[in-house]
Amino acid sequence: MKSLVIATSNPHKLHEIEAVLGPIGFTCTPLQDAGIPEPEEDGETFEENARIKAMAYAKALGVTVLADDSGLEVDALSGRPGVHSARFAGVGDTRAQRDAANNARLLRELAGVPDALRTARFVCVLCVARSDGSIVAESRGHFEGRIGHALRGSNGFGYDPLLVLADGRTSAELSNDEKNARSHRGNALRVLVALLAS
Ligand code: IMP
Repeated sequence: MKSLVIATSNPHKLHEIEAVLGPIGFTCTPLQDAGIPEPEEDGETFEENARIKAMAYAKALGVTVLADDSGLEVDALSGRPGVHSARFAGVGDTRAQRDAANNARLLRELAGVPDALRTARFVCVLCVARSDGSIVAESRGHFEGRIGHALRGSNGFGYDPLLVLADGRTSAELSNDEKNARSHRGNALRVLVALLAS
C-alpha cells in the first residue's frame, strides 16, 4: 500500500502530493501515458469523480491508484464552479490558458460583489483504489478564503492567485511547504495517511 500511482495529469497536483507522501515512505509514480482512455468525469460531486478516476485507472493498470478531484466553491455563486472548476470558462488549449480564462471569468462573475460576500474554499477529495477496483480509503480537505479583486502571486496553479487567505496573502503567495501545511490537498493527504495506517 506504500506504492501508489498518482492518477493526475496535473504536474502541480503531483508535486504537492509527492511532497507530503514522499518523506513518510510512499513511492509515488506518475501516471504514464499507457494508452488508457481518460475516464469521463461525469459525477456530480468531487467524491464521485475521485472514485471514477481511481477505480478506472487501478483496474486498467492493475495497481493501487490514488486519484485527486478538486476545485473551488464560491458561496456567492451557490458553490460554482465546483466540480466544473477545471473548465469553468471552457476555453484554452494549454493548462495556463485555461487557468487564465477561468480566473478572468471568476472575476467577471463576482464584479460588484463586496468582500464580505466573496467567501470561497478549495475542496480536495482523494480516493485510493486497488487493482480489483475496490476502494481502500477516501478523504476530503478544505482551504477557506475569499476571492480577491485581482490576481496576486506566482506560485501554485489554477485559482491560487485569487484565493485570499485570512492573513491577506493569496494561495499563490505561499511557499510550496506553506501551501501543503494549510491546503485542502495537504489536509486531505494527512487524513488519508492516517486511514491507510489504521
Ligand atoms: P480536476 O483536475 O478535474 O480535479 O480539476 C481541478 C481544478 O480545480 C483545477 O484545474 C484548478 O482550476 C482547481 N484547483 C484544484 N486544486 C487547486 C489548487 O490547489 N489551487 C488552485 N486551483 C485548484
